[in-house]
Amino acid sequence: MKKIVIIGGGIIGLCSAYYLQESGCSVTVIDKSTMRSGASFVNAGFLTPSHFSPLAAPGMIRKGLQWMLDPKSPFYVKPRLDLDFLKWSWLFYKSSTKAHVQQSIRPIKNINLLSTELYKDMLNVTDMQFQLENKGLLMCFKTPEAAEEEIKLSKIALKEGLNVQYLNKTELQKLQPKANYNALGAFHYLCDSHMTPGNFMETLKKHLHQKGVIFKTDQEVISLERKGDEIHKVRTKTHTFEADEFILAAGSWSPYLAKHLSINIPVQAGKGYCINTKQETGITIPAILVEAKVAVTPMEHFTRFSGTMEIAGINHRINPVRVQSIAAAASKFYTGFHLSEAEQKEAVCGLRPVSPDGLPYIGKSSHIKNLTFATGHAMMGWSLGPATGKLVEEIILEKKPSMDILPFSPDRF
Ligand SMILES: Cc1cc2nc3c(=O)[nH]c(=O)nc-3n(C[C@H](O)[C@H](O)[C@H](O)COP(=O)(O)OP(=O)(O)OC[C@H]3O[C@@H](n4cnc5c(N)ncnc54)[C@H](O)[C@@H]3O)c2cc1C
Repeated sequence: MKKIVIIGGGIIGLCSAYYLQESGCSVTVIDKSTMRSGASFVNAGFLTPSHFSPLAAPGMIRKGLQWMLDPKSPFYVKPRLDLDFLKWSWLFYKSSTKAHVQQSIRPIKNINLLSTELYKDMLNVTDMQFQLENKGLLMCFKTPEAAEEEIKLSKIALKEGLNVQYLNKTELQKLQPKANYNALGAFHYLCDSHMTPGNFMETLKKHLHQKGVIFKTDQEVISLERKGDEIHKVRTKTHTFEADEFILAAGSWSPYLAKHLSINIPVQAGKGYCINTKQETGITIPAILVEAKVAVTPMEHFTRFSGTMEIAGINHRINPVRVQSIAAAASKFYTGFHLSEAEQKEAVCGLRPVSPDGLPYIGKSSHIKNLTFATGHAMMGWSLGPATGKLVEEIILEKKPSMDILPFSPDRF
């Protein structure tokens, strides 16, 4: 029986644990937190084959520079004299090409589709009951400029075989009669689904616990010790862990841990916020409010508004201006709707682990024989959890991977 240690108990670490324990491995998950907060809990819960275009794309640098001057903008990069940040920025710039976007569409789409199927399979496991709704995703726009951009994307989506339909204002109102949309129209990506992340995380933790996965919470890994080309031990302040195989799934913290092994894995934290409301919104289909880049999700018993991408290092400070801009977008797109001050005060944040080219790192390290990377999923980590977990299991147990993993190589930079 292979002994596995997974560093990080977010969606990626837990999905890796799921498939490895299913294949008979003995699995320990180590997390520095109590595993009740962070990106894997505050996200919008979208499963997104529709998000096939990477963040690093032509025009993003220009847009980013404009947005940097606007404190309410949905995307913000804080300039810093930090070598890792400067390297990451250079790689982002180099990846922002048409050729890179074209090369990335297929792998991103395919891994999203694989993951959606795997989430559906999990519903067949007796103790794994959770919300998974396939009502699609509405890309709602207010301006002709945004409509034009969405038309271009929908054409690529159709070419890629994704199910997407155009809705004019009247059709959008008819589809969401109680939501009072104030938008020109929308593209409805019927290929997408949604979930309630916090509930799923609890269900998965319980399932894994019952199956014998060991959780070590409040245990921060402070060193990874190498003997030749293998990891020998990982240490927390109070414990030492040995295993046959180690998985680095520590989200935005992964590059700091990789440094213990002299490995460079470019990842920057991309902070995002969410505001939950129990008000009757009339929203039953998830949406993205395109101009504001705000995601809206009808979750179990509440609606979540989430957004912003702040690349400003590792911190969990809540910037009230950005929270207010999410709330303002909600009022602009839904006539008569307001997120209250109290709801805005309850806003929480999480850090997306953002790779510079918009593709995750999934694969064995070429430097360390018994280390597998599973990180860098940026805005798609929720969607890609099960596919990543499955691929990690296949890599470690030397099975044929369910899809081509070369685009996700941790050695690509
Ligand atoms: C507002 C917002 C909305 C989003 N919406 C979506 C969406 O709709 N769809 C989608 O697919 N994705 C979405 N995302 C992105 C998604 O949430 C992330 O990509 C995903 O949660 C990353 O998961 P992870 O397991 O890699 O990292 P995390 O969830 O950050 O987990 C990493 C874990 O590692 C632990 N850790 C770190 N360092 C150590 C250490 N030294 N020792 C032990 N443990 C350690 C941390 O405590 C943490 O629990 C969103 C993110 C945000 C913030």
